Amino acid sequence: MSLHIPFENTYARLPDRFFAHQAPTPVRAPKLLAFNYDLAKSLGITDTDDAQELAEVFSGSRVPEGAEPLAQLYSGHQFGNWNPQLGDGRAVLLGESNGYDIQLKGSGPTPFSRRGDGRSWLGPVLREYVISEAMHAFGIPTTRALAAVATGEEVFRERPMPGGVMTRVASSHIRVGTFQALYARQDVEGLETLMNFAIARHYPDAQSPAEFLAAVINRQAELIARWMSVGFIHGVMNTDNCAISGETLDYGPCAFMDAYNPMQVFSSIDRHGRYAFGNQPDIIVWNMAQLATTLVPLMPDGDAAVETFTQLVHAMPDQIRSHWVRFFSAKIGIQTPRENDRELIEDLLTLMAKDGADFTNSFRSLSGDTPQDHFLDQAAFSQWQARWQSRITDEPDPQAVMNAANPALIPRNHRIEAMIQAAVDGDMAPFERLMTALSTPYTASGDFADLAHPPQENERVRQTFCG
Ligand code: AMP
Ligand code: MG
Ligand code: MG
Repeated sequence: MSLHIPFENTYARLPDRFFAHQAPTPVRAPKLLAFNYDLAKSLGITDTDDAQELAEVFSGSRVPEGAEPLAQLYSGHQFGNWNPQLGDGRAVLLGESNGYDIQLKGSGPTPFSRRGDGRSWLGPVLREYVISEAMHAFGIPTTRALAAVATGEEVFRERPMPGGVMTRVASSHIRVGTFQALYARQDVEGLETLMNFAIARHYPDAQSPAEFLAAVINRQAELIARWMSVGFIHGVMNTDNCAISGETLDYGPCAFMDAYNPMQVFSSIDRHGRYAFGNQPDIIVWNMAQLATTLVPLMPDGDAAVETFTQLVHAMPDQIRSHWVRFFSAKIGIQTPRENDRELIEDLLTLMAKDGADFTNSFRSLSGDTPQDHFLDQAAFSQWQARWQSRITDEPDPQAVMNAANPALIPRNHRIEAMIQAAVDGDMAPFERLMTALSTPYTASGDFADLAHPPQENERVRQTFCG
């Protein structure tokens, strides 16, 4: 039997102006590097035993039966600057399976490629594969990784690099930028169609544009607080990378922090630190304001809409803060936060920033024997520890709460870079090992103790790239 994907093509049924029909471009010598059999199963995909067939389909060399490949139109604000014409420049949506988008990324040029080559090199493909699956294992809403295929072709990124195609699964690829594209074209009918499609797919309870906006804001507020709780820096929170579903979308120059620094930036293109770790809550509010703007034409009374939407957007910082307090309270063993807990958390973070403490390991050590080892200023830490210990005497099971909230392992930059280097040299063992370790990131295992180490000075990754 050959591979079967039970495609539906609901996006392809939307108006023609929402996308361009676009087949992926075949590649020279597709080779399957990774395939997520569990995810495939949950998508209703069957007969996945032929690796060469998987390589052909998930490199775009063969369009599977039932697919109607297309490149989606979108616009967006990139680093705050309006760009009317973005769209899938190197991706095609094959269709949906069990309600989830199956998208090839790096599958060749499209009408939206602008000056790009439509391709991706292997590094970002494997990076997204590992990080998005780790996010899933953390319990953070995210797109998933279905397949990674080497193309057998070269891609030029300053120098020739091996090419790759990533297959991404998402509950949809509708972005703030998709709404912006229609708004910019004053396509009110299109906006209404898109909103109704997004409501049916993600927020079936929403009865109006305001309820739809509120629902997206709720999901995004929680998402960003979750990112912060594991030290995740998205790196390119442009409106075109902001999913209406509330899933983490577009793993480009993203990274997890090692040493805690509230203003940490890794992305080589984020020169002014717009998307620094600590700016993420402000940026998501800005992005939601852009979404709100696009929905105004859908309200019968524009003035009333502006007022309602403004209130929703203005309430968002408090929403993010309360999720933040909830997640960070759990990180210090508190199940039910109280009034003063925020100060307790912030004081710990201040100490961590001052001492350059490792974000992940310091939190994880709070449920161990020697948390003080992570701090330089011992007197300050022991003062904080005394306050904390007196607070958690009231908590039923702080150890369990902490161990479920503080990962023992994160995909550290230097490990990702080493894994990519090995893969380029033909060795997938570090990739497999990272995937295994990160599938249960809250379990500390002696086998993977080395993966918990922060980088040595010479291993430190200072910059990440879009790929
Ligand atoms: P990103 O920064 O990944 O969100 O990408 C921004 C825009 O650039 C999107 O429209 C992408 O499709 C497009 N893009 C990025 N890389 C390429 C490439 N190599 N070829 C064509 N388009 C690209
Ligand atoms: Mg993008
Ligand atoms: Mg990208």
